[in-house]
Amino acid sequence: MTGITLVQGDITHQRADAIVNAANSSLLGGGGVDGAIHRRGGPAILDACRDLRASRYGRGLPTGRAVATTAGELDARWVIHTVGPVYNAAGGDPSLLASCYRESLRVADELGARSVAFPAISTGVYGWPLDDAARIAVDAVRGADTAVEEIRFVLFDDRAHEAFAARLG
Ligand code: ADP
Repeated sequence: MTGITLVQGDITHQRADAIVNAANSSLLGGGGVDGAIHRRGGPAILDACRDLRASRYGRGLPTGRAVATTAGELDARWVIHTVGPVYNAAGGDPSLLASCYRESLRVADELGARSVAFPAISTGVYGWPLDDAARIAVDAVRGADTAVEEIRFVLFDDRAHEAFAARLG
């Protein structure tokens, strides 16, 4: 049985088997969650990301996909990097946003992770409206066929927390 929980706070302070990063396809760092994870997790994470760019993901990690690295100094065993879709004037592709959650859980299952902490992917710089992103995220994890026991959404601010709480009921 998978339980879904909700907390408000900084995802880099969470303890979980895996912490999900809202990365960009370069895997070489960015702002928001990405910047915070690399700052607090230390250089081992970026080193592992560079190795991925030099091997499996020479052209970067495609949108909607996920890949794991060490979690460095974070209180976790792995960081799972996933690339959310950008939401622009034409909207965004909800299947790609759902894919981020599903693929992250698939990678978590491969690793044997039992607890996974997710941020609200694509709702920062990538501009996805919070209520819609919360609906897609909650539906995606509820529909996932996973052995992960705890899926924890970690929402940075009140607004995001409220949007996810409303969806989880
Ligand atoms: P994206 O590029 O996918 O939009 P961002 O990192 O810009 O990713 O933002 C995703 C969400 O994560 C936003 O709701 C943002 O407020 C939130 N966020 C930013 N920093 C943190 C953090 N340290 N812990 C948890 N959530 C965070």
